[in-house]
Amino acid sequence: MSELRDQVREEKEYLVRMRRDFHRHPELASQEKRTAGVIEQELDRFRISHIRIGETGVLGVLRGTLNRSGVVALRADIDALPIQETNDVEYRSRTDGVMHACGHDAHTASLLGAAKVLAANRDHFGGEVRFLFQPAEETGKGAPDFIETGALDGVERVFGLHSAPDLPIDTIGITPGLNNAAVDHFRILVHGKAAHVSTPQLGADALYAASQIVVAIQGLVTRRTSPVEPVILGVGKFSSGTTYNAIAASAELEGTTRTISQEMRLQVREWIDQIAGQTAGFSGAEAQVIWTDVTSALINDPQVSREVAEAAKGLGDHIRIITDRPLSLGGDNFAEYQRKVPGCYAYVGTANAQLPGTLNSLHSGNFDLDEDALVIGAELYAEYAFQWLRKQGRP
Ligand SMILES: [Zn+2]
Ligand SMILES: [Zn+2]
Repeated sequence: MSELRDQVREEKEYLVRMRRDFHRHPELASQEKRTAGVIEQELDRFRISHIRIGETGVLGVLRGTLNRSGVVALRADIDALPIQETNDVEYRSRTDGVMHACGHDAHTASLLGAAKVLAANRDHFGGEVRFLFQPAEETGKGAPDFIETGALDGVERVFGLHSAPDLPIDTIGITPGLNNAAVDHFRILVHGKAAHVSTPQLGADALYAASQIVVAIQGLVTRRTSPVEPVILGVGKFSSGTTYNAIAASAELEGTTRTISQEMRLQVREWIDQIAGQTAGFSGAEAQVIWTDVTSALINDPQVSREVAEAAKGLGDHIRIITDRPLSLGGDNFAEYQRKVPGCYAYVGTANAQLPGTLNSLHSGNFDLDEDALVIGAELYAEYAFQWLRKQGRP
């Protein structure tokens, strides 16, 4: 047989076609119905069995025919964002206000390409490859559904990748240890009492209390946390009041926390709960904090990182591997899988100075990527699973 990576390279046209199809038809988190349907149709063609996970997740299972053990999971996220695409390209989004601006179209296409080639080579390995086509990454959902339905049961390795416009094409970032922050979302509801502006003693000013809460939360970062441990407590939304000459009866704040340790993640929650309650209390108001878990911190297992770097080296001399991509305080809920199974998340460079659109950042309306990265992504998925399974013994 020809080398696996050569077989993947021959699928370039397929990869580009699939990526552009997903790009034209982006679907928001938890609404990826068409996308899931296309994925299932492709898996059927490759004779890979699959089941739905939740409404729009797809789990594919491919067993090698050799008598070997080992189960490896490969994950791609499949959702798009509520962003209007401004690119003027043939494959631009056909849905107003929705766009694949985070490269998940590329991840999905690359994983399908890997599935296609691995399926064609099932006689050359044993054990099992599980393909996790995960919806709703952007809203911090999707991953828990896969875990709760047992998709990771028996899995010994989990691998995933993300597009990285901060890295040039042919560069792969594989950083052992901490890569991304833990992310949580909070809403603070402040309940006060309305009154005429001329008689503040008769009311409880929720707007004033909420303003104090915003300021006090920032004080936590400078006064209560270590200056050498990154912590972000960001309030991005504030709504309150109905008219200029009335005391506001209620206020609502919305924000997010970014921390890098589980201890600090829990600690800042406690502090924000306390500060909101006490600060509102000074104004005669009350506060209620509602927390939503988004994702844990993303920590790459050192051993799996070495294995993935090994597979990446095998892709050829043109590939440059970096192991010190700076920590990002953005989150990715691939982290949830890594809390269950040793895993690694790699960053595949998608920037190319010859293609100016590929230099734009993720989550912007003009994001685009060098489609050569689709091949690198597919090669890495396929090579990692194949090499790891080839090293496993008999059951
Ligand atoms: Zn994103
Ligand atoms: Zn993303």
